[in-house]
Amino acid sequence: MVRSLTDACFRLLRESMVRRQLEARGVRDPRVLEAMRAVPRHEFVPGAYLLFAYADTPLPIGEGQTISQPYMVALMTQTLNLQPTDRVLEIGTGSGYQAAVLAHLAASVWSIELRERLARRARERLQRLGYTNATVLAGDGSRGLDEQAPFDAICVTAGAPRVPQPLLDQLAEGGRLVIPVGSECTQELRLMVREGSHFKERDIVPCMFVPLRGAEGWDEEEEEHIVRIAE
Ligand code: SAM
Repeated sequence: MVRSLTDACFRLLRESMVRRQLEARGVRDPRVLEAMRAVPRHEFVPGAYLLFAYADTPLPIGEGQTISQPYMVALMTQTLNLQPTDRVLEIGTGSGYQAAVLAHLAASVWSIELRERLARRARERLQRLGYTNATVLAGDGSRGLDEQAPFDAICVTAGAPRVPQPLLDQLAEGGRLVIPVGSECTQELRLMVREGSHFKERDIVPCMFVPLRGAEGWDEEEEEHIVRIAE
């Protein structure tokens, strides 16, 4: 009884999130809106933030990382124009929320998370919620996942200094890559579409993501240096 009331409550909050945060800002793809209505975002946020699970904001998930704002998740997903047969790669699993949304719309999702503890938690959560077509791997995803390439879509959910060449190389013909590119603090969400040996490029919207680390990302030592100076 209590459980079904809580579920009904969260469903209402999701519906309001879809109307006020997504449709009102121009997210129109019915499949994306349906996925955003279906995925229980409250299962992906830490207990302390449960009341804010459907708020119009990113939220902390531990280890200095965040679950992205619902609008950004929906916008990135819409930009990827996913088809039900698509094979998708995500870099930056975090809580696993974006991976769940992608798994709703595509055939299979590989998601890589640099921080082992976050990767383990996201893997367990996705399994518990029944996302059998999503695989979470721990490690540096900035060079992609060559052994599973090519991908129809690649979604990078951390801010990169440049578009990593290995990710472009791992796109299938007609494949789409969305990635925040810019400084460590602010970026532009960029779409790259493979056309033969060329790539069409389009900037979508300014954004703010935590930094992409690893071989093709920002140097972690630089961050420690910035923190030391600030102290
Ligand atoms: N998509 C996530 C979600 O739905 O909760 C939010 C991702 S959070 C904004 C960015 C994530 O990228 C962080 O969890 C961070 O640890 C991860 N990350 C940063 N550099 C990475 C790398 N080189 N490989 C894999 N993950 C990375």
